[in-house]
Amino acid sequence: MSTDLVRLARAADYAARQHIAQRRKGPRGEPYINHLTEVAALLAEATDGGDVVLVMAGLLHDTLEDTDTTYEDLEQRFGAEVAALVAEVTDDKSLPKEERKRLQIAKTPAKSWRAKLLKLADKTSNLRSLVQSPPSGWTEARLRDYVVWAAAVVQSCRGLNAAVEAAFDAAHDEASRQFG
Ligand code: ZN
Repeated sequence: MSTDLVRLARAADYAARQHIAQRRKGPRGEPYINHLTEVAALLAEATDGGDVVLVMAGLLHDTLEDTDTTYEDLEQRFGAEVAALVAEVTDDKSLPKEERKRLQIAKTPAKSWRAKLLKLADKTSNLRSLVQSPPSGWTEARLRDYVVWAAAVVQSCRGLNAAVEAAFDAAHDEASRQFG
């Protein structure tokens, strides 16, 4: 038997294990799983708990990029839909950072609605974290650039879900006030 609740709990457990040694860059050093559960909670609330694939992908969205998890691992454990969605929001790590950032802006408009909601929730969490605990060593200019870039990435993600959009806008306003 594989109910939604079981699948979701397994995704949370797997994400926590895979990211076990990672922390946010800021002075608070929040465990990375906090970012993942924040994204998942945003998505779950915004969709009234009606989309388990989206919430699972929220928990797993950084596994391909930041851990040794492979696409096949995700597919085998969580199914093709979840694996494909995580892959859709994963950068090509063989490219330089600036190119990856440029591609996020260029490629997001063509992504699925679920990937767009995930991007919105991800950037919301990142902006909140930037305000609460800015990464050590980041200059004002770099912080400001991130805020501007995040808004550019999600420009094409609007009109899909008012709740996630409102969460992003609130986080973006706060970050703009702080660093703009
Ligand atoms: Zn993320």
